[in-house]
Amino acid sequence: MTGLLDKLRARIAAEGPLTVAQYMSVCLSDPEYGYYSTREPFGAAGDFITAPEISQMFGELVGAACLSAWDAMGRPDRFELVELGPGRGTLMADLLRVAALRPAFLKAARLNLVETSDRLRKIQNATLKDASVQPTFRDRFQDVPEGPLLLVANEFFDALPIHQFVKTPDAWQERQVGVNEAGDLIFGIGTAALPEAAVPASARTGPDGSILETQPAANAIAEDIGRRIAAGGGMALFIDYGYLKTAPGDTLQALHKHRYDNVLAHPGEADLTAHVNFESLAAAAVNGGAAALPPLTQGDFLLRSGLLERAGALGSGKSHDEQEAIRDAVERLAAPDKMGNLFKVLAVTNSGLTVPPFDSAL
Ligand code: SAH
Repeated sequence: MTGLLDKLRARIAAEGPLTVAQYMSVCLSDPEYGYYSTREPFGAAGDFITAPEISQMFGELVGAACLSAWDAMGRPDRFELVELGPGRGTLMADLLRVAALRPAFLKAARLNLVETSDRLRKIQNATLKDASVQPTFRDRFQDVPEGPLLLVANEFFDALPIHQFVKTPDAWQERQVGVNEAGDLIFGIGTAALPEAAVPASARTGPDGSILETQPAANAIAEDIGRRIAAGGGMALFIDYGYLKTAPGDTLQALHKHRYDNVLAHPGEADLTAHVNFESLAAAAVNGGAAALPPLTQGDFLLRSGLLERAGALGSGKSHDEQEAIRDAVERLAAPDKMGNLFKVLAVTNSGLTVPPFDSAL
């Protein structure tokens, strides 16, 4: 039993069932009991390990892509360097270390970390205490100043609330979280329905009970970023697990101590995420006026960026065990059956801007 379960029961008793989006949002961000407010999710003792925590090579190669983008932008002497949801600050520390090879880049960069958790802000500050650029914390992307933009977001969008709709004989009706007589959280179906126009053709023929997800919170941020990039130029890299084409499926998942968990079982104690719909995310950025380059799998992105060469350089002269650890990290980050295929990398740029290792837009 968690403190959050009592709080959820009381709220549902007073207001009725919650949407899946409301449930996700409370579980992750409740100031008192929310997962990111109270837990240490990352690393061996936490619930999951993200790519930057697996190896410094990840942040270094993301940093190399940012340097290429800055070149392609004409090396502006002022730009906003932004990370959404920086976790422990590891990716940014690795990125800035690579960027130290280009002092003019660092001189031009103003660092903005968009983070809601005070606890994580402290950790990010500590990780970056010796970095050459010091961060300004922002509550929301909208608080980042205007101007040319280089933005990275790793495993950020998967933590934003999604809505789920269940196919019934009449319509796609919103999935809700309620409480049964025993006081347990249960799924139910509400009366709100998805407009017919929002249902992709591929889903229309599916069986009753199929689930379609929408991600208005993620898309609103992607659209905003698209608008900024259209106005001031730049690039955003969205890295996450997800799918490239809209399709029915229930992707809401809970991770608790490195194991999949029932999503209603440990509110506030388990990490709750959903797979990101990259088709929808790219469309939102394009709606904002930016261009979306054809997405790459994380494996392709890293290999095209020189992962194997970097691994070779990092391992040279090291002990057998250290070299084994580097090989293991390459495997986890890029192998198709590990993170390589499930994770995708979407680059959003202003039109005409091409950034290695991405192909230009069609
Ligand atoms: N990028 C990091 C951490 C991913 S976890 C890594 O790869 O290791 C998700 C991060 O997003 C956490 O830092 C969390 O506190 C933050 N976060 C979640 N929802 C947020 C929101 N709505 N606004 C800003 N940050 C958010």
